[in-house]
Amino acid sequence: MTALGRRVVVVGGGIVGLAVAERVVRDEPSSRVTVLEKEHDWALHQTGRNSGVVHSGLYYPPGSLKARWCAAGARALLDLAREEGVPHARTGKLVVATSTTELARLGALYDRGLANGLTVRRLTALEVRELEPHVSAVAAIHVAQTGVIDYREVSRVLVRRLQDAGATLLPGTAVVGGHPGPDRVVLETTRGEVVADVAVVCAGLHADRLARALGHQPSARIVPFRGEYMELQPSAAHLVRGLVYPVPDPALPFLGVHLTRGIDGHVHAGPNAVLALSREGYTWRDARAMDLLETAGFAGFWRLARRHHRSGAAEVLRSVSARRFADTVRRLVPEVRTEDLVPSSAGVRAQAVKPDGTLVDDFLLERQGRVVHLLNAPSPAATAALEIARQVVRQLPT
Ligand SMILES: Cc1cc2nc3c(=O)[nH]c(=O)nc-3n(C[C@H](O)[C@H](O)[C@H](O)COP(=O)(O)OP(=O)(O)OC[C@H]3O[C@@H](n4cnc5c(N)ncnc54)[C@H](O)[C@@H]3O)c2cc1C
Repeated sequence: MTALGRRVVVVGGGIVGLAVAERVVRDEPSSRVTVLEKEHDWALHQTGRNSGVVHSGLYYPPGSLKARWCAAGARALLDLAREEGVPHARTGKLVVATSTTELARLGALYDRGLANGLTVRRLTALEVRELEPHVSAVAAIHVAQTGVIDYREVSRVLVRRLQDAGATLLPGTAVVGGHPGPDRVVLETTRGEVVADVAVVCAGLHADRLARALGHQPSARIVPFRGEYMELQPSAAHLVRGLVYPVPDPALPFLGVHLTRGIDGHVHAGPNAVLALSREGYTWRDARAMDLLETAGFAGFWRLARRHHRSGAAEVLRSVSARRFADTVRRLVPEVRTEDLVPSSAGVRAQAVKPDGTLVDDFLLERQGRVVHLLNAPSPAATAALEIARQVVRQLPT
């Protein structure tokens, strides 16, 4: 360490990396912070391609990192949004049972919401109609804390704060390897070597690869799951007022296709969940042999695929057939016609999977000497980013 303060290098310019860097400049004003991002702009991957929901923490086991950091992160995020004038809204959300077979699971979700300290209400079919006149439900729960925001806008604020604090921001700089030593870390990048006293790797879809490139064997691998969205045409957008979610199937890893009226007023349906054919595979055409071979060579992937082959096949059908996608939406809002939905964007989730084929459920941080690797930061990590940052910075090696 020099008199100037230590050199902290953050790899990855998504919301989590930017939040970590911003936290360091606030907590250690003398530190010299650098952010390395392989793309020529910030927040181009998961952060810029998500549902824009400020999650409440409803689904996560009480006491888990997701439950605690989501709630604290959401509070910090809304404070930032108010301070910086980032458009946001606390809309609340509905989780809707469309058949009596889902009532037990809806009840369990209600209990979990209470256990997580949320303001949750049970609603009858009639009460649902008052809030969302076009939604079909036998019952629902309403969670007050959920909201919407634009995470690209939040990332822009973090970038501006970093610039104001004099941090070195290097978009267009990919880390390709490195040598973590006892006193310092040398990172090899496409623009030469960067030396750090401490490094934090928040590389999203490439988190496990970067860990290996730095000589760390991560306990899990990233499997990329694409989530595709459709958008309701303006003529049908009135059918959805807020956020409408199905009751998730606990056997499945994701929340199920939901309807979201974003902060821009557009209503999106999605995301589905299909295996992406490359780490940043936003369409079926984006296939990369190396990525596919890597996934195919990972035993954990095949174990996961065997367990979920039925739902996986249904997801692929939903991806290639607009009618199937619309059928799923119609379960929540029967009046939506197939032609009311137009293809929209897609995102790819970086989901860590263990060698035994189970998903890493919680956020996962691993320490390698002077390097901290964030190995699992899927949803709700955008909501939780400011709290993840606080926790990571507290745990940085001295
Ligand atoms: C479809 C979808 C919907 C979602 N919906 C929500 C939601 O509504 N609410 C919510 O809270 N969360 C949601 N999430 C999750 C949320 O978007 C992510 O958890 C969050 O954005 C993770 O941020 P990150 O910074 O870790 O990753 P990213 O945003 O992916 O950023 C990682 C960055 O690292 C860079 N990078 C990678 N490798 C290198 C390298 N070698 N050198 C330099 N840079 C590198 C990448 O280019 C990228 O910019 C959703 C995710 C998806 C995919």
